[in-house]
Formats: sequence, C-alpha cells, structure tokens
Amino acid sequence: MVKKSPTEFSFWEKKIETLPTQDLKKLQAKRLRQTIKKAQTVPFYEEQFKAASTDPDKIESIDCIKSLPFTTKDDLRNQWPYGLLAVPKDDCVRVHASSGTTGRAVAMLHTEKDIDTWSNLVARCLYGVGVRKRDIFQNMAGYGLFTGGLGFHYGAQKLGTLTIPIGAGNSRRQVNLMRDFGTTVTHIMPSFAIYLMKVFKDMGIDPKRDTKLRIFFLGAEPHSEETRKRIETFYDVDAYNSYGLSEMNGPGVSFECHLKDGLHIWEDSYIVEIIDPEGDEPVPMGEVGELVYTTLQREAMPLIRYRSQDLASFIQEPCKCGRTHCRISRIQGRVDDMIIWKGVNIFPLQIEKVLMEIPEVQETYLVVLETENDVDRMIIQVEVRESFLKGEKSYELQARIVNSLQAELLAKPEVQLVSSGTIPVPEAGKAKRVIDKRSF
Ligand code: ADP
Ligand code: ZN
Repeated sequence: MVKKSPTEFSFWEKKIETLPTQDLKKLQAKRLRQTIKKAQTVPFYEEQFKAASTDPDKIESIDCIKSLPFTTKDDLRNQWPYGLLAVPKDDCVRVHASSGTTGRAVAMLHTEKDIDTWSNLVARCLYGVGVRKRDIFQNMAGYGLFTGGLGFHYGAQKLGTLTIPIGAGNSRRQVNLMRDFGTTVTHIMPSFAIYLMKVFKDMGIDPKRDTKLRIFFLGAEPHSEETRKRIETFYDVDAYNSYGLSEMNGPGVSFECHLKDGLHIWEDSYIVEIIDPEGDEPVPMGEVGELVYTTLQREAMPLIRYRSQDLASFIQEPCKCGRTHCRISRIQGRVDDMIIWKGVNIFPLQIEKVLMEIPEVQETYLVVLETENDVDRMIIQVEVRESFLKGEKSYELQARIVNSLQAELLAKPEVQLVSSGTIPVPEAGKAKRVIDKRSF
C-alpha cells in the first residue's frame, strides 16, 4: 500500500499572496479607509472616532493607524450581542463566540460575504502546505459556536476536500475513522494530539503502519516546538501551527507555510501591530508584545485596533516561500497566562518546552500554585513512564527535571512525578495548564 502521496507546495492565490510589499501597503490603506467608513455607522465607533478626531479621508497610509482608538475585549463584552454591528441584523447569517477562556465570551456576527472571505483565507492556509482536493480531512475541533469547527470546515469545503466533521472528543472513534476512511489531514488541538498517542497505543494501532495521515494542523492553544516534534515523530506527519481568534473570525488569521519558520498573517485582511501590553506604543522590531488587529474586509463587525492580549514578535526578514505577508513568532501565551512566582515571570509554554525535551516525560503536566505557611509553592506535576515512578531512577529523573526547569525559568520549582493518565485532559476544549490556589 502506498501510504503517502508526495506533497506539492504552491499558492492558492499567487497574485495576492506574493503582492509586492508597496502594493500590499497601498491595498491596506485603501481598505482601512473603507473599514473606518463602515465602522463610523456603529454608535460605539462613531463616539470613539469623534473623540480621536478621526477622518477616514485623511488616512493616506497605514501609518495613520496609530492615531485611531483601541478596541478591547471589554468593549466587545459591553456591546454584546449586537452593539458592534455595522450592517442590519438581517444581513447576518452566522454567529460565533470565543471559548470564554479568559472570562465572559464575546460574540461575532458574519454576513455571507464574511463567511466566504474567511473560508478563502482558511483554504489559502490549507492549500499552501499541500492539502488538495484528493485529501481526506478529519476536523477534530469542536463544532458550534467555537470557530475551529465550522471555520476549518468551510475552508476545506472551498478547497473541495472530503471532510469528516467529527468535532472534538470521542478518542477511539477518531482513531477508527482515521483508519477506516484513510484520513490524510487533521485539524487538532496539540494537547489532544499528545493525549491521543496513548489511545493509539492502547488500541494497538500504529499511525505509521495503519493510517495515511500526513498533515496535522495544530491550533487553538499555545504549544512548543518540542511538542510539534513529538507529534510529527509519533504520527509521521508534518504538523503546522495554525493560529486565529474568534474576534478576527477564527482560524485562518495566521498560519505556517511549508517552511515552518514563523506564522504569516494575511495582511490583505488584517493590519497587525505589536504593542507594549502595558502601554500604547509599538515595541521595537523583533521584541515580544501584544498583537493588535484591524479587520480590513469584514462587513458585519469591523474591528479597529483590537487588543488581542496574545503575545508574539515580528520576524523581520522576508520568508523564502515568496509570500510577502508579514510573519510572527509562535504565540507565547496571553498577557494573563503569565505566572508571577517569587517575583519571576513565567509562561506555561516555557515549562512545556523543557518537559517535552525529556524523553521519559509522557503526555502531560500541570502547574499547581499554592500557599503553605505563608510561602508560595510552585508544584509541577509531570506524567512519566511507570518504570520511573519509584526508586533510584525516580530520584534521578526528578532531579534532572528540576535542574532543566531551573535553567529555563531562573527559579526552582518543585516537581512531582505522576503516572500517565493522572492529570485530567479535556477531550474537547483547551488544556488547563495552571491551577492557582495561592492566597494573595
Ligand atoms: P478564547 O480567547 O476564549 O480562548 P477563542 O476560541 O477565539 O477564544 O481562541 C482564540 C485564542 O486561542 C487566541 O486568542 C489565542 O490565545 C489562542 N490560540 C489560538 N490558536 C493558537 C495557536 N496556534 N497558538 C497559541 N495560541 C493560540
Ligand atoms: Zn513562508
């Protein structure tokens, strides 16, 4: 049986994907003017623009964006559900909502044209890394209000790929479908892809031997390069980082091309800035800051300078793939994912990076913060192979993990080794990495 067909890399829309930077900036300026005019019809923005003396006809280049007001998650929450609509409600055909990871969810509405534009962006991401009509695509993201399900589904459909809309969870069924239908491409959360390895092993199914899997899209939550490598090795696939947020449609905002060297952002649809999360000014090129987005093509809910709270940096050099659209680093996490422990700032992703490099470490980990006798403790529970749970081997491994973590975090956490399957992993939804029980 021939397992994999060779992968072709090419452009879904070559002209726009490789548009010279000058022309791309001009297109953005034109679309920014149009977006502001559209947004002016929304009372919330009308007021904001009045206060900032915004005149769309004076926007000559995208540099003018700096004079526009920001939009925050709280603004979106306060305008729930219809307050930010720039079209009559009757012109909308779909509503989505964020998962509510950081509090009350926000709702986004879309016209038919919005859905079409969004699907096209997703199709660009899929096609660029070699997904073709002949592929079989198993979408393992939740359907419903969450954007990962229908967002990817419509993109795959635009491309003409046979899609299995199973959604999240149902581990054993997922594996059976992959094997029986000859699934070649999946969209899956990285924590679930790691969890599913155990399910494959328990079922005695070897992804290399028994499936035709060749491409994974990993999205919806932060994950490290080491996690990607584990997934690629176990499933024998190419895994691509796919990033998006409901406020900017969902998946399709930013994706890795086949070079896997940073994520391109589709600049014909978004203007992206990287701002000091504690201020209003851009960070110097290459430094990590908060991603701030302006929609350029959205009809129903145009958003101006939306503060996403997601942290990443720009990559300055043009990408060798030929796409002119800018690139960002992996998402480090959200502003409020940062753990402050004994005065040190730590992102869960740093912990994951260290743990996934250690072969004895199994599926998952959990950071528990608690206060005991007025002392703040950070206990990192780590799932390891059974044979490392007792005796000399266990002490050696525990010490090795503590040392590696200390070198990365510049603080010394406690490490507890636990057996595989101890830490609950949600079959559907985003992994919870931190439990903070500290008394402040
Ligand atoms: P919520 O913000 O409530 O989780 P969404 O379901 O819209 O709602 O999820 C979008 C968020 O998920 C992003 O803002 C980002 O924090 C995270 N995210 C999505 N894709 C990725 C990715 N590839 N890497 C890291 N984080 C991601
Ligand atoms: Zn590229």
